[in-house]
Amino acid sequence: MSDYDFDLITIGAGSGGVRASRLAAGFGAKVAVIEEEREGGTCVLRGCVPKKLFVYGSHFGHDMQDGSGYGWSADNVRHDWPAMIAAKEKELDRLHGIYVSLLENAGATRIHGRGTVVDAHTVAVGDKHYTAERILIAVGGWPSVPVLPGAEHAITSNEALELPKRPDRIVIVGSGFIAVEFAGIFNSFGSETHLVYRADKVMRGFDEDVRDTLTEEMSKKGMHLHPGTLPDRIEKVGDVYKVHLNDGSTLEVDEVMYATGRHPNTKGLGLAEAGVELTKGGAVVVNEWSQTSVPSIYAVGDVTDRINLTPVAIAEGHSFAETVFNNRPMQADHRDVPSAVFSQPPIGTVGLTEAEARDQYGEIDVYVAGFRPMKYTLTDNPERGMQKLIVDRASDRVIGAHMVGLDAPEIIQGLGIAIKAGATKAEFDATIGIHPTAAEEFVTMRTKRPDPQERQAAE
Ligand code: NDP
Repeated sequence: MSDYDFDLITIGAGSGGVRASRLAAGFGAKVAVIEEEREGGTCVLRGCVPKKLFVYGSHFGHDMQDGSGYGWSADNVRHDWPAMIAAKEKELDRLHGIYVSLLENAGATRIHGRGTVVDAHTVAVGDKHYTAERILIAVGGWPSVPVLPGAEHAITSNEALELPKRPDRIVIVGSGFIAVEFAGIFNSFGSETHLVYRADKVMRGFDEDVRDTLTEEMSKKGMHLHPGTLPDRIEKVGDVYKVHLNDGSTLEVDEVMYATGRHPNTKGLGLAEAGVELTKGGAVVVNEWSQTSVPSIYAVGDVTDRINLTPVAIAEGHSFAETVFNNRPMQADHRDVPSAVFSQPPIGTVGLTEAEARDQYGEIDVYVAGFRPMKYTLTDNPERGMQKLIVDRASDRVIGAHMVGLDAPEIIQGLGIAIKAGATKAEFDATIGIHPTAAEEFVTMRTKRPDPQERQAAE
């Protein structure tokens, strides 16, 4: 019989913490889960889920416009923002309920409050101390806003999902996942949307063709892009905000949103004091078993700043529970993780970018196609998409697939399986396409893009 109160105490009831806890409890462990807010975590309460609902919501307006090309007419179309917020809240309540039942049905004890680590086996919540053989840190991350005069006027994605009123004009700072997703949302709902970012194009780190395509399509949709700029200060004048940019110009808007990255939620958690190694940015350092420098303390999800995606946190939590409480050693696989950006149009991507592939493989073949979605052929919608495959010339294996365009996230999930399984370009080519779809392009691409040297020589 253990001398501890619990076999496992998890701090943080988000995707990773809940998966680990309910599995561990299912394997017979005595588990407590500490959460200071509602169970659910970033993805359910302040991220993927409400964001995707907003993305869906924002598309209906365009669909009605596009419908006119097919003979539909819709007069007096209006959007009721507070009604959408209320409907979204109802859905989050439902999902929160599911998270609670998952934990309770598994037999885990829920403790409400802020948990802090006291030592290798003790966690405090207020003035109560609980002991456990193992502690799992799954506290996620939080939006970062740089220091600048007037930063207190800025909102982040947290507040953007709860605004009582849709801003008529908004500045969004940043050009990563959250910035481009929210720019698409506000623009589609009819807000005058300005994206202010320091790079020359959006989505740094993504394949250059993806970046070029999305940047161009966002601009075509009427988003106002301000590359190579940063706000110097934000000034509140009455009900509006004046955003003074470093190129000397000023934007006058109703909301200013920062989407400039997220930081791990480790401040004040007692980890460093308990001997847990943290990175300079505050992320918990873990090995491939999600174990920290203190052997009884583990960490999963965004707090470890590996790949900050919900399904990855779930895989890490799952592997931890199997390894530690089911005697089935398992490591989360961080290779070839497919991902999507729900920008407008959306991105789907898996594997290497062209630049990474050239670095790692040297000789590669690149296949690129631009397309106009068939859905838009009878409409005025000028949106175009892009599909790209990257192939290792020596083995013929497809090592990267990228798409910008309608349904890209749905399409790339399937290609993720093929790439994970090591499919070759010949196997892609031998697969019969589904006609008429955009996805079929991935199995009918036959023309290689000339190598950069060949292109240069031809110029
Ligand atoms: P990202 O890291 O994607 O983007 C941060 C952006 O902020 C970049 O454009 C960056 O510029 C810019 N930036 C950083 N610091 C500053 C600064 N001091 N001043 C001005 N600009 C700055 O972070 P997000 O906040 O968008 O998202 C956080 C993470 O959440 C993502 O990385 C992703 O892992 C996850 N996420 C995933 C989603 C999905 O799967 N669909 C959706 C939303 C979030 P630069 O490019 O120049 O460095």
